Amino acid sequence: MIFGLQSQEKNMAVIKPMVRSNICINAHPIGCAKDTQNQIDWVLAQKAKKGIKTAKEGNEKAPKTALVLGCSTGYGLASRITAAFEYGADTIGVSFEKDATETKGGTPGWYNNKAFDKFAAQAGLKSTTFNMDAYSDECRQAVIDEIKKWGVKFDLVIYSLASPVRTDPDTKVMYRSVLKVIGQEYKGPALDIMNGTLMPDVVAPLAEGDDIANTVKVMGGEDWERWFKYLLDADVIAEGCKTVAYSYIGPKLSHAIYRDGTIGMAKKDLEARAKVIDSMLKKVNGSAYVSVNKGLITRSSSVIPVIGVYLGCLFKVQKAEGTHEGCKEQIERLFTERLYTADGKVPVDEEGRIRIDDWELRPETQAKVDKVMPNITQDNIAEMIDLEGVRKDFLNINGFDVDGVDYSKEVTDMSAID
Ligand code: NAD
Repeated sequence: MIFGLQSQEKNMAVIKPMVRSNICINAHPIGCAKDTQNQIDWVLAQKAKKGIKTAKEGNEKAPKTALVLGCSTGYGLASRITAAFEYGADTIGVSFEKDATETKGGTPGWYNNKAFDKFAAQAGLKSTTFNMDAYSDECRQAVIDEIKKWGVKFDLVIYSLASPVRTDPDTKVMYRSVLKVIGQEYKGPALDIMNGTLMPDVVAPLAEGDDIANTVKVMGGEDWERWFKYLLDADVIAEGCKTVAYSYIGPKLSHAIYRDGTIGMAKKDLEARAKVIDSMLKKVNGSAYVSVNKGLITRSSSVIPVIGVYLGCLFKVQKAEGTHEGCKEQIERLFTERLYTADGKVPVDEEGRIRIDDWELRPETQAKVDKVMPNITQDNIAEMIDLEGVRKDFLNINGFDVDGVDYSKEVTDMSAID
């Protein structure tokens, strides 16, 4: 029998992806766990290849205890995996995911977390994962209580939350972030990832009313700063602690919808707050950074118009150049070539930001993308862009099309990962 989310027949099902308008609404338990394991294996191979040492192996610079906010998918999961498996850090992770039961499927991040905790335990690494609203003060308190129980302090805090809503912990008002353009109309092609259909001239909505302020409230840096107020007050931040939040700039063609749109305003707020947090951290000789990362197919980016076509085009160009990276490659480079360099210096741009979008934005790479983008049509899309690659990344996020998984096998327990 073939079912989407769950079987109607005594919990026996072959699980297939159920995709509606670029959103995959179910997840494959074994596939998610295997994808997490594949990422761990890749990171371990990098560790061996580059000779990266953990603190226990004598690397004084290696992070020992990391907090990862938004740990379950995308850049946050890659960060937790790199901190733990390449640098040997014990980790506390926070994410907001739907639990699975024996008969009901959970969200991909729930399975990823379960797999991470299992493999961390096998490797002798401590890990605690909270399935809580990271924007709430209750969550901050739970993390503080846990780290105090561990009897250590955080020397790395990754802020990788991506959410459409945030409830202000003081007022209990819920704010909603939107992806809209500001001031000028903007049209561009959108891509239906699964069937490869190009939807030309999709109009992006214009921001109105409180759209900008609300998006800044959700995706800006207010919550990141509040985390540091709490963590510092509780004295759980170690000497020399580093914190990093993730941002995106992207090419000119996406600026109207991204960098100069509502989400871009939130990212500029995040960048400004990094400076505030950096000064808060001075008393422990710590530092706060924003890292500008590459655009990738993750749960958040796959619903943004224009971005899908652009990423498909970028992936094809970068794969031909040998400069293509996914989440794990980006984050591994962030750790080894930016945060934990041999001389201890963190390379930043003139505005103090870490740039691991450098390969994406190389002028020669963008020139190739610019040449292809205007000539993409429905008839030639499969040759012009890396449709297969985009589709595989999209499916992998939900545990489908993952290398090494037998998808013909029936799943009998939706909460089991092996
Ligand atoms: P993602 O959707 O894969 O992950 C988001 C994480 O946030 C998940 O772990 C989710 O559980 C968690 N989360 C959401 N709401 C929460 C809540 N209320 N409480 C606790 N956890 C919550 O996202 P991603 O694409 O990896 O993005 C992470 C960051 O990287 C974002 O700041 C994003 O803007 C940035 N970024 C993304 C891209 C991209 O192309 N995807 C590029 C550059 C930067």
